[in-house]
Amino acid sequence: MSGVPQNASKGAAQKTFYLETFGCQMNVHDSEKVVGTLVQEGYRQVETVEHADLVLYNTCSIRDKAEQKVFNRLSDYKKYKAQGKTFGVLGCVAQQEGEKIFERAPYVSLVCGSASYRKLPEMLHQLEDAQLQNSPQSPAIGSIDSNPSNTAKGGAPAPVVVTAAKTRDSGLAARDSLVRITGLDDRETDACFETEFTARTNPHRGYITIIEGCDKFCAYCVVPYTRGKERSRTSASVLAEARQMADLGYTEIQLLGQNVNSYKDSEGNPSKRKTFAELLAAVGEVPGIRRVRFMTSHPRDFGRDIVEAIDAVPALCDHVHLPVQSGSTRMLGAMQRLYTREQYLERIAWMKAAKREISITTDVIVGFPGETESDFAETLGLLEEVGYDAVFAFKYSPRPNTPSLKLEDAIPDAEKARRLDVLMARQREIQSTRYKRYIGTRCEVMVEARNDARGQYIGRTSHNKTLNFTAPQSENPKSGSYAPVVVTGSFPNSLLGELVV
Ligand code: SAM
Ligand code: SF4
Repeated sequence: MSGVPQNASKGAAQKTFYLETFGCQMNVHDSEKVVGTLVQEGYRQVETVEHADLVLYNTCSIRDKAEQKVFNRLSDYKKYKAQGKTFGVLGCVAQQEGEKIFERAPYVSLVCGSASYRKLPEMLHQLEDAQLQNSPQSPAIGSIDSNPSNTAKGGAPAPVVVTAAKTRDSGLAARDSLVRITGLDDRETDACFETEFTARTNPHRGYITIIEGCDKFCAYCVVPYTRGKERSRTSASVLAEARQMADLGYTEIQLLGQNVNSYKDSEGNPSKRKTFAELLAAVGEVPGIRRVRFMTSHPRDFGRDIVEAIDAVPALCDHVHLPVQSGSTRMLGAMQRLYTREQYLERIAWMKAAKREISITTDVIVGFPGETESDFAETLGLLEEVGYDAVFAFKYSPRPNTPSLKLEDAIPDAEKARRLDVLMARQREIQSTRYKRYIGTRCEVMVEARNDARGQYIGRTSHNKTLNFTAPQSENPKSGSYAPVVVTGSFPNSLLGELVV
């Protein structure tokens, strides 16, 4: 389950794939599951497009820039189509754009949204079969399966295969293997993408998805349209995966979901169902697991029981990412965030009353339609009031299908950029002050790597701060180990220290 597993049984003629991931941790972890699935199907992962038979992009469409990057990458590599490579688009852009991708990038053969990943093996088989039938050696160019009403095992709609003759690109010859296959489940699926073949890239800390999709429909956000409706795994399956990871030597787990605290245990036996806080605590109590993180929390569903769990279970990290988006109740209403500034601050107060100091981080959107100078000033004031340890701030980007698309995007880009700069400059000052407070304190870090050029080790604290530290030559802290470090200096985004020997 770590590194790039290789299925040795397939020999020299093994099919190869290259996978590039754009976007958030959810996408990174989805890619780990896709890699594991493909390897199980006999593919071998390679590091460059040049060496791959199958080229996949796991895409993000959260902001326009992210989406553009995907299409730029596709157009950079279209030259490889002539070499017989197969291109596939996975993830949010795939779900959002659907078959329109075939018009914009005609050399793409596979389009698959995240709600359909569990069908990937089936889709790959159909694609391979269809390409074989479409090859110049094949006696006939057959339509493999173009009936959308056909159903796969378990009653789920089967992926649609469209052969060259049925696409608008009749200009391309059949020998170009222009077979197209789509997995575009609607947002009504109840299934999660669970697989035992996850190819985790880090051998010490790993992700576990506990909930997929989102039902919140914030006015600006594509996620409910691209990732489908909210659906949770059973606590039993999450805990089994956590135990399995612990057995493999993992010591840190991050529970993932667009909205982890709206987790609803889908366990069949109601008496065994766990709330999110109970699941969090249970993962923190798995023998061998030393750190548990979770991402992302929605303020509306953030209960006091989460803070109580952090208080009670030492393995739960003292860090909460609680995106606020705006400090103005008026803007929160327009964004359909379902809480007010006061309610958000109430949750902050719960965290500030915790036994351990909890580090708080957030996301902010500037320039949402209708945001006035005074709304923006309220957001700046909130930064001061909360004292965040990190802020991820974004210029509002109008997204397809979202309710806010109907609102006039009247704030010019230059003004959005100005607000972003002001906000980040203010936050930098706040962080400089906050990080200084750690000087002289002792922190436990998980060692992530060694920076040879700087003669330092890179560590991460429980409150999710980077702590770069030096160690005497006689010591050589290993990646994945835990080490005590005394903080000797600070910067706005990291700490400096020395190993305690
Ligand atoms: N589920 C999380 C929540 O409710 O806070 C956020 C998930 S979203 C993938 C990550 C962040 O992207 C959001 O918190 C928001 O700040 C930002 N974001 C989402 N849609 C955006 C848009 N249309 N324009 C700018 N930023 C956006
Ligand atoms: Fe998007 Fe809102 Fe869902 Fe977060 S809670 S993923 S911002 S719709």
